[in-house]
Amino acid sequence: MVLARLANPVNMNSYYIWTIGCQMNKADSERLESALGQMGLSSAGSAKDADVVVLNSCVVRQSAEDKVVGMVTSLKPQKSHNPDKVVALMGCMVGPKTDALERRFPYVDVFMRPQQYGPLLDLLGDRMGIDPEGCVGPLTARPDVTAYIPIIHGCDKFCSFCIIPYRRGREVSRTIEDVVRETRLLAQRGVKEVTLLGQNVDSYGHDLPGDQDLGDLLESANEVEGIERIRFLTSHPSDMSDHIIDSVARLGKVCEHVNLPFQAGDDDVLASMRRGYTNDEYRRLIDRIRARIPGVSLSTDVIVGFSGETEDQFERTVELVQDIGFDKVHAAAYSTREGTIAARMMPDDVPREEKQRRLKRLEEVQELALTDINSRLDGQITEVLVEGRRRGRLFGRNRNDKLVFFDDETDRTGEFVNVRIERTGPWSLQGVPQ
Ligand code: SF4
Repeated sequence: MVLARLANPVNMNSYYIWTIGCQMNKADSERLESALGQMGLSSAGSAKDADVVVLNSCVVRQSAEDKVVGMVTSLKPQKSHNPDKVVALMGCMVGPKTDALERRFPYVDVFMRPQQYGPLLDLLGDRMGIDPEGCVGPLTARPDVTAYIPIIHGCDKFCSFCIIPYRRGREVSRTIEDVVRETRLLAQRGVKEVTLLGQNVDSYGHDLPGDQDLGDLLESANEVEGIERIRFLTSHPSDMSDHIIDSVARLGKVCEHVNLPFQAGDDDVLASMRRGYTNDEYRRLIDRIRARIPGVSLSTDVIVGFSGETEDQFERTVELVQDIGFDKVHAAAYSTREGTIAARMMPDDVPREEKQRRLKRLEEVQELALTDINSRLDGQITEVLVEGRRRGRLFGRNRNDKLVFFDDETDRTGEFVNVRIERTGPWSLQGVPQ
């Protein structure tokens, strides 16, 4: 890439990207980081020290939105002190119209919807006197041992509680060739494990010519030399086909782990959430997955206290969590998101304290279940891809996405290490290398 020099450049040396939210946001930030690196900027340790500050936002829950507002607001004095500092707000807080945001945060220089890096790169290009064209391509920043690859953007499902389709738009799949090219590039740069991302990853390919789906993409990615593990997130129960399940079962590099949100255990609540399946259908799907993928681990997402959810209806969620025995449950209290179907038509009528009580009950049930599930791994040897060191100990995950810690003075980051599990708890495992 050639960066053409333009007139009257301004010095811009460093950037700071703050990211909150899902893996898709993290992947978007990595891409932006790569582009800023190609423009000659380097990473600063804090927003205060950076010439360019990017906040990559999430509004999927009120708590996330509050944190974003706190961060944007904290930049106001920095911007008045240093008007040359560039402040960008990116991600799901930015909808198609930005007038209200511009009025609320007049000191923000640029607003960008998810994956729309152009406005910031153009602005920086103008200030720095370079041509930013071509800076956002395949990931080229220093990748870790594991990497995220977005394969489908947007979501067509319009679950009644969810803001994502309004912010990330309709589904658009990348081609298999494009994703495989990026996977190869990452492998050449030392990445061993890739996670294919989509808000609804199982819907991948329906907008591409021919009859291609996630199973076909997994098959192609499985051929990439150097990549040893492949994962995918997030699945939708209505779109998880037998072809996808069989591909996971058959392909050696695809890990035995499925993230399958069920959101609520009661059929009426599921219907008002517009999820498109029943409790029984979900259970039967789990049975099929377990029958075809031996040793599979399962994680899920749950919302408690959705509009009108009674105590009995909530107990159906608890029952489902107990019956299935998930390896991870991401539970959240419902909060209304402006612009969604639920915000327009369904009152947020479960009191805050009751939502918190339900959340706590679910967490206790899950902690007990996980303590038991993980204790069965005691004494077993499991293969861990080492991701780095945390509080002095090496850590990584096994194929089932279990977090494992062990001690070794040598830095074994990037290696596959067989670890004998010697201590188990609900949230992690500890062992010794073999
Ligand atoms: S499937 Fe539903 S919950 Fe998931 S991103 Fe799409 S609309 Fe949101």
